Amino acid sequence: MAMSNRPIYMDNQATTPVDPRVLEAMLPYFGERFVNAASRNHQFGWDAEEAVDNARKQVAALINAHPKEIVFTSGATESDNLALKGVAEMYGQKGDHIITCVTEHKAIIDSAKHLEKQGVRVTFLPVERNGLIDLDDLERAITDKTILISIMTANNEVGVVQDIREIGRIARERGVLFHTDAVQAVGKIPFDVQAMNVDIASLSAHKMYGPKGVGALYVRRRNPRVLLTPIIDGGGHERGMRSGTLNVPGIVGFGRAAELSMNELEDESRRLGALRDRLLARLREKLDEIYINGDMERRIPGNLNISFAYVEGESLLMGIDDVAVSSGSACTSASLEPSYVLKALGVGEDLAHTSIRFGLGRFNTEDEVDYVADKVTGTVQRLRELSPLYEMVKEGIDLSTVNWTAD
Ligand SMILES: *Cc1c(COP(=O)(O)O)cnc(C)c1O
Repeated sequence: MAMSNRPIYMDNQATTPVDPRVLEAMLPYFGERFVNAASRNHQFGWDAEEAVDNARKQVAALINAHPKEIVFTSGATESDNLALKGVAEMYGQKGDHIITCVTEHKAIIDSAKHLEKQGVRVTFLPVERNGLIDLDDLERAITDKTILISIMTANNEVGVVQDIREIGRIARERGVLFHTDAVQAVGKIPFDVQAMNVDIASLSAHKMYGPKGVGALYVRRRNPRVLLTPIIDGGGHERGMRSGTLNVPGIVGFGRAAELSMNELEDESRRLGALRDRLLARLREKLDEIYINGDMERRIPGNLNISFAYVEGESLLMGIDDVAVSSGSACTSASLEPSYVLKALGVGEDLAHTSIRFGLGRFNTEDEVDYVADKVTGTVQRLRELSPLYEMVKEGIDLSTVNWTAD
């Protein structure tokens, strides 16, 4: 049996390794195929243009779009900014209201807050305990001034998948544009802009085994035709929506990554789902008092987000320091707040601090899952042996009835 390499990378919702087949496709474009895809006067330029066109087709095919509907960007942060700010400015005459949700990525939340300062009204829909928005809330929030609904397809922390098809149906029925940050879903679960009535969608290459610094915005061309005011002005590249010399190697890699994801989606999602279930089963076999954050059914296959009660978050992470995962705890991130996503799900501070996001990906193996499960269970058991609270719970004491003051 092959031993796995340490540290083990299990943080694939943060970023994914570049697939070697993607790297191979990109390399010539750093070397002899260096030319600007906008150079129309010579063979070199035509080659680069052809490579970009091919990538555009590959990315479009993955989401059932037309190649002309793909606008290449520097990543999904830019795509999210362009979607919200571009719609707000272009459709400002029509209305001044946007609807989004509290568990969105910061690229959406902060773009929406930026627009609020400019006088746009923003509704941040809450989520239920399972991480899903209530579709009745959504319907009630729509007014005749609403110009955009932006709801993410899959959440980056808890992996929960919103009912995009139904949201798309509602948006279409009410004549409101629908944007979705689909970064965590595209290439992982079926995603189809036609079937789901999506008008605008954000994608990122580095979340699907492509390179960092390249992404796309899908912008619908007909029924309805969506127009966006650019946030970057210049030479008029990308149908005027995003100026700037194209990142040809990055785009070629993105295209190849999209092609691979499309070909392998079914097998890969089945394999990842099985690995995820194996990890969960192994944790549950040896540990009680563990809590899954977010809906377990409506979830991308590679995500498991669990809180381990009665341990200290920092000690837990230190105990598994040869495993790369993310935590909902403050001590691992730049901000001091525990995860705002878990908070929005109603997860208390204690459980938020002991949450771990296991992000399984294409290159994780069964051996790695077993190693991680053993490492986590061993660490949690050891920490709980030191926990007076856990001991009291095991003795059947209801902690909510305990009078903690010493007298
Ligand atoms: C990673 C991520 C982004 C940002 O993408 P970049 O390409 O890194 O800018 C946006 N939304 C979600 C849901 C993400 O997971």
